[in-house]
Amino acid sequence: MEGPMTKDGETHRDTAVVIVGCGIHGTALAVRLLAETALTTDDIRIVDEHGEPLAAFEAKARQCGMETLRSTYVQHVSPEPFSLESFAEGRDREQELVPTRNYPPRPTLSLFLDHAQFVVNRYDLTDSLVEARMTDVTRQDDGVTVETTTGSFGAHSLVLAVGMGDQYTWPAWAESISADDRISHVWDESWSPTEAGISGETLVVGGGITAGQVATTLAEQGVAVTLCHRTAIETAESEADPCWINWRHIERELHCYPPGSEQRYRTVQQARYDGTIPPYLLDDIEACNQLQRRCGTIETVAPITDGLLVRFCDGTSRTVARILLATGFESPFDSSVAARVASELDLERGYRNVPVLDDETLVWRCQDGDDSAVYVSGALAEGTVGPIARNVVGAKRAGERIAATLTARKTVASSQRTGGRSVADD
Ligand SMILES: Cc1cc2nc3c(=O)[nH]c(=O)nc-3n(C[C@H](O)[C@H](O)[C@H](O)COP(=O)(O)OP(=O)(O)OC[C@H]3O[C@@H](n4cnc5c(N)ncnc54)[C@H](O)[C@@H]3O)c2cc1C
Repeated sequence: MEGPMTKDGETHRDTAVVIVGCGIHGTALAVRLLAETALTTDDIRIVDEHGEPLAAFEAKARQCGMETLRSTYVQHVSPEPFSLESFAEGRDREQELVPTRNYPPRPTLSLFLDHAQFVVNRYDLTDSLVEARMTDVTRQDDGVTVETTTGSFGAHSLVLAVGMGDQYTWPAWAESISADDRISHVWDESWSPTEAGISGETLVVGGGITAGQVATTLAEQGVAVTLCHRTAIETAESEADPCWINWRHIERELHCYPPGSEQRYRTVQQARYDGTIPPYLLDDIEACNQLQRRCGTIETVAPITDGLLVRFCDGTSRTVARILLATGFESPFDSSVAARVASELDLERGYRNVPVLDDETLVWRCQDGDDSAVYVSGALAEGTVGPIARNVVGAKRAGERIAATLTARKTVASSQRTGGRSVADD
């Protein structure tokens, strides 16, 4: 792993591409660039505060007790569609491709992560990884300077693959007692599902896959759990209709509206099956005798001697030992990273701060209409990639366009000047 500090003690280095974020999106893009362009690991720096690829994803999956992915076995970090299947077959792990009713098989979490590690090793991706946090970015004549906690990089291109941000949703009724350790958010790093020994009832609040997953995990460990959801639980196999995987559908149904427009934002919101759980998880919930369900909206929560007094909007109340919030993230468009990059580089933001991207290239447009040096993958690219943008398959869609553009632009030409393989050599 190499930081920006050079052997000569310099803390600035020029490179072709800086990718911020080494989650599923940053990793998949880096692999695609190495596999399909003339860029080498020397030309790419992947800046992430976690020292390992996919660390943030793995931590969240473990925190909610997820054992299998929701998405199918062809969705992973390699550009080769059947790479994960071949990986499983070659290691006698086909049984970890879990058969799923009316849906293709899904990989176990451990198979998905082991395959990702295999791909990372195959492309020596850790040679490009810099354990640091991006703190700032400024415009240069031929790109940007990316400031990090351990030094800076000059780069022709910057790719933001920063995920959903780190602002988790706390309902208004929870804010006044947020410091109380009887309320936690499932994504708080301090919270762990192995706290199975706790006594009293845990109220898990949320109606989506994370809430269902963490509630069953706790109940299976013997914790008294009630899953509290505002409306009836709805099921869906995936996060959006699979037609949204197809660029032609995205272009027809989303790109028909102006970039950054309210119509685009609303089209994506309506197409996402947010707050749904997959049928296999509903089966688990229903089969779990220790798990109670309560449909209702919480009005207030007050600390009392032996726990928390929860009052519902229908006038009923109950006392629980603790509350675990599985209420999701705040909007990624309002994250501090997105706001900082947009303001430093004068980038255009649309309705509700959606980054305004060029649909063909995923370049974030400047306010004056010019292209910037910034590309976007993941949740921040939803206005162009559509409702599957934040998912594993969204990394594939975004990666295709970003890699094609970097190949065509001077990023690769520059790499050729500095000794990288030329496209013509391939
Ligand atoms: C528990 C869980 C299960 C999921 N299961 C599925 C599934 O089965 N199928 C599917 O398609 N989708 C799934 N998703 C949705 C989605 O695929 C994941 O959220 C995925 O992790 C998104 O990848 P990402 O790279 O965009 O974000 P992340 O995994 O969050 O990675 C972003 C990275 O950026 C880094 N970063 C952010 N800001 C900075 C900064 N300023 N400087 C340096 N680094 C920074 C973070 O440290 C992090 O490592 C799931 C999500 C969760 C939470």
